[in-house]
Amino acid sequence: MKKTPEEIQEEKELHPNWYNGTYMSPEHPLAFMGYIIAEPQSYMKPDTYRLCPRCKGHGGWILTYDAYGEGRPFRQLCSVCNGQGWQALKYLCTSEDGIHNFVFDEKLGNCYNQYKCTICDATKKIDSSD
Ligand SMILES: [Zn+2]
Ligand SMILES: [Zn+2]
Repeated sequence: MKKTPEEIQEEKELHPNWYNGTYMSPEHPLAFMGYIIAEPQSYMKPDTYRLCPRCKGHGGWILTYDAYGEGRPFRQLCSVCNGQGWQALKYLCTSEDGIHNFVFDEKLGNCYNQYKCTICDATKKIDSSD
């Protein structure tokens, strides 16, 4: 049985650390198969950006292979760097690894939610309708 996008979204909100559950985490040796490490954009100076610690610069990873048929994996866009592979130093969390732990905070509208970091209280708003 495959999960619908709605079921997956619900699971993500119920389990903020869902990526360590039934799906492959970025620590999985095959999670980056087919990915390349993103070149930093010209505005990403070494003193203002760092290689994303979660996706190791790949911008995302594979959650499950063949999720949509053979050779069509279900992918996770990295939320730490928004798929860029590089993380802005000015948005780092106060946590040791600089990664926020965003959890669902407030529903702002249809498919529009606010997430809040449990460590530093930073917030971000996500429109999941697109
Ligand atoms: Zn990343
Ligand atoms: Zn934080």
